[in-house]
Amino acid sequence: MPQTNETTDAAAETAQATVTPRPRKVPRIVVLGGGSVGLYSARRLRKRLGRREAAIVVVDPRPYMTYAPFLPEVSAGSISDRDVVAPHNRALKHIDTLQGRVTAIKHGAKTVEITPEVGDPYEITYDHLIIGLGSVSRLLPIPGLAEVGIGFKNVEEAIAVRNHVLDRLIVASSTWDKELRERLLTFTFVGGGFAGIEAIAEIEDMAKSAVKQYPTIDASELRFVMIEGSDRILPELTLEMANYALEEMKKRGIEFHLSTFLSSCVDGNIVTSTGVEFESDTVVWTAGVKANPVIGESDLPSDKLGRVTVNTKLQVIDEDGNVIPDAYAAGDCAAVPDVHGGINGFCVPNAQHAVRQAKLLGDNLASVLRSGDLKDYEHKNLGTVASLGLHKGVAILFGGLKLRGFLAWCAHRGYHLMAMPTISRKIRIATGWTAAYLMRRELVPLGPLHDPRAEFRRAAVPPKPKAEAPAKKDENATDAEKAEAK
Ligand SMILES: Cc1cc2nc3c(=O)[nH]c(=O)nc-3n(C[C@H](O)[C@H](O)[C@H](O)COP(=O)(O)OP(=O)(O)OC[C@H]3O[C@@H](n4cnc5c(N)ncnc54)[C@H](O)[C@@H]3O)c2cc1C
Repeated sequence: MPQTNETTDAAAETAQATVTPRPRKVPRIVVLGGGSVGLYSARRLRKRLGRREAAIVVVDPRPYMTYAPFLPEVSAGSISDRDVVAPHNRALKHIDTLQGRVTAIKHGAKTVEITPEVGDPYEITYDHLIIGLGSVSRLLPIPGLAEVGIGFKNVEEAIAVRNHVLDRLIVASSTWDKELRERLLTFTFVGGGFAGIEAIAEIEDMAKSAVKQYPTIDASELRFVMIEGSDRILPELTLEMANYALEEMKKRGIEFHLSTFLSSCVDGNIVTSTGVEFESDTVVWTAGVKANPVIGESDLPSDKLGRVTVNTKLQVIDEDGNVIPDAYAAGDCAAVPDVHGGINGFCVPNAQHAVRQAKLLGDNLASVLRSGDLKDYEHKNLGTVASLGLHKGVAILFGGLKLRGFLAWCAHRGYHLMAMPTISRKIRIATGWTAAYLMRRELVPLGPLHDPRAEFRRAAVPPKPKAEAPAKKDENATDAEKAEAK
C-alpha cells in the first residue's frame, strides 16, 4: 500500500482522478513493474532528476526485483533465495512504491488501475508512463498441465521446485513400492531453452548430491527427462555449443526427447507426441514466455506477440511508427528494434538487454523533461553464458570466444555476479558460494514450508475414540471358550 506522502496523495486522488485530473506542479512518472526494467529505469531517473523535477512511482505486486538468471542456482541450493532479490525499499531510494497488480492501462485517460492484494482496485493518474511488466509463462491447453505443472519464472517457483524435488527423494527413500518409487524419482522438464536447460542441469546435479544422504536410493534410480519441441536445445547458442551441452548432459544420464511435444500429463501420467508414456510426480514447465497480457488488453499498440511496440528511443509507437506521447517501454514486454539483428529484427528477451534498455529509457525520459535530445538503443550482445550444474557450463563471449566446462561456469558466475543489483546482494552471493564450497551446499528439504498450516489443521482434528484394551484371559474358561474368544 502507499508508502510515502506522494503516493498517499496518489491514492487519495483516486476518486477524483477519473473526473478531472488536477494539474500537478511536479510531473508524475508511473513505472509499471519493479523488475529489471522498472528498477533500473526508476533508479536512473532519480539519479538524473531531483525530487522537485519529477515524482516517481513504481507499481509491482512483489516488494522486490528478482534477478532471474540466478533462479536455477536457487533451485540447486547454491544460492540462498533471499540473495537473488533486491528489495524495493532499499534499492529504490526517494522513489515511491505501490504494492499491487496493474490490471488496466488507459493511456488515453493517463490512468492505470491497480488491484492490491487486499481491498478494492483503485486508479492513479500519471504524466509519463514506463511499461516494464515483463513476461508470463506461455501455457498451452495440455490436459493436466494447469493441475500438475509448475513454472520456473520467479523465486517462489524456484524454491517450490527445489523443496518438491528434495521431498520426492525422502518419500521415495521410505517406500519399497517399485512403481511408486519410479514415479517419485522421475522428474520431467518441458522446454529446452535457456531457463529449462539451466534448471534441469542444476537440479539433476543437486539431486545426485542429495541422494548420497539416502542409502536406500541409488543414483541410477533418478530419471531426469527433457521434452523439447524443436530439434535442438539452447537456440541462444550456436548449434556446435548447444550440441556440446546436449552431449554433456546425456553423458550424465539426462534423457532428451527432441522434436517432441507434451501431449498430456493428467495426474502425472506423461504422454508425448511421439507416443512415449511414463509416470512422473514432477512436471516443470519452461516452454517459453509471452508478454504480460495486461498490455494486449490496454489501449496501447502491440504486435502479434502481445508486446508493446516501441522505436529505438524506447518511445511507444503505433503501427505507422508515430510516437504515442508520454509512453515508454522496454524489456520482455516490449518489441525493441535491434540494430544488430536480434530475432526478426527485435532484441531477444533477456536481462542483458532489459537492464541496458532501462538505463537508456531513464536517460531519455529525463532528457524529455529537460527538453534535451533522445538517444537510440544500440547494444551488441556481450555473449551468452549458461551453467550446466556445479563446475560445468558453456559460454560464447564477445561474439566468438567459446568456453566449455569449468571456465565457462566461472564466466557464468562472474558475469551474473557483476550484473546482480546492489553491492550487498553481490557480497551475500559471493559469501554463500564460499560457504557452500567449504561446507558443501545445503540440501535440507523444507517441503512443509509450502503448507505451514498442515500441522495446525492436524492438531485441530478431535482425537479418535481410545482403542479398546484386549480382553483379559479367563483362566477357568474351557478350551472351546478360549478358541471362541480368539
Ligand atoms: C529461469 C530464468 C533464467 C534466465 N536466465 C537468463 C540469463 O541467464 N541471462 C539473461 O540475460 N536473461 C535471463 N533470463 C531472462 C531475464 O530474466 C529477463 O529477460 C529479464 O528479467 C526481463 O526484464 P523485465 O524487466 O522485462 O521483466 P522482469 O524482470 O520479469 O520484471 C517484470 C516485473 O513486473 C512485475 N509484474 C508482473 N505483472 C505485473 C502487473 N500486472 N502489475 C505490476 N507489476 C507486474 C513482476 O512482478 C516483475 O517484478 C532468465 C529468465 C528466467 C525466468
